[in-house]
Amino acid sequence: MRIAMHYKRALLAMVLMLIVFTVCLLTTTAYSQNEKENKMNVQFINITEDHVKNSFLEVYKKYDDLHAYKITVIQKRIGATTMKAQPIITFKNLCKGTKEYRIVIGEFLKDTDIKLSEVPKDVLKGWFAHELGHVVDYEQHSNFGMLWYGLRYVTSGSFKKKVEHKADYIALKKGFKNSLLKTKRYILLSDVFSSKYLINMNKYYLPLDSVKNYLDEKVEKDDEALSKMYHD
Ligand SMILES: [Zn+2]
Repeated sequence: MRIAMHYKRALLAMVLMLIVFTVCLLTTTAYSQNEKENKMNVQFINITEDHVKNSFLEVYKKYDDLHAYKITVIQKRIGATTMKAQPIITFKNLCKGTKEYRIVIGEFLKDTDIKLSEVPKDVLKGWFAHELGHVVDYEQHSNFGMLWYGLRYVTSGSFKKKVEHKADYIALKKGFKNSLLKTKRYILLSDVFSSKYLINMNKYYLPLDSVKNYLDEKVEKDDEALSKMYHD
């Protein structure tokens, strides 16, 4: 009698485990199918100008490693900067681990009365390439890890400099050298920005000369040289 009860309980536990496993499997499969099908996972909020949307989409197309994630581009008044890229972290996705990102863009360039929609397309593209460079950098961290990352960004100047440079190098590797050069020249060489903004740019961001001297074909040349060494 006792053995029969144990047997029944064990069977019930196994059935319950099987149900939970099946539900999890179905949810995961549906999620990954959805991810594969939705290649343009971008949502625009408050952006009316096609010029801004198209500039973003032209850059986004080249960041195919990000197409699996939902990215929201939202335009609103932001005081601290002109654009910023952020992970969207909620209590739910902190546990579940799914990743989602937000690019916030200002209505105006910081501390100026120049509307973002008036900025030339190539300059905007360089700006967006930098922001999506941040997202590529974020993507390798878990949502928990991003909480620590955010804390370090606001408390450590050297960490901020490191990740700002990294975002530009990712954009350079994606082929946005010309757009980045135009963005850097627009920011650093025109007189539209305040001296405070420029001091900040020079302190933390990749210098214009480093972008100018970046060689797209450097890696290929190194590979060619290696190949010659082994095959000649
Ligand atoms: Zn940045």
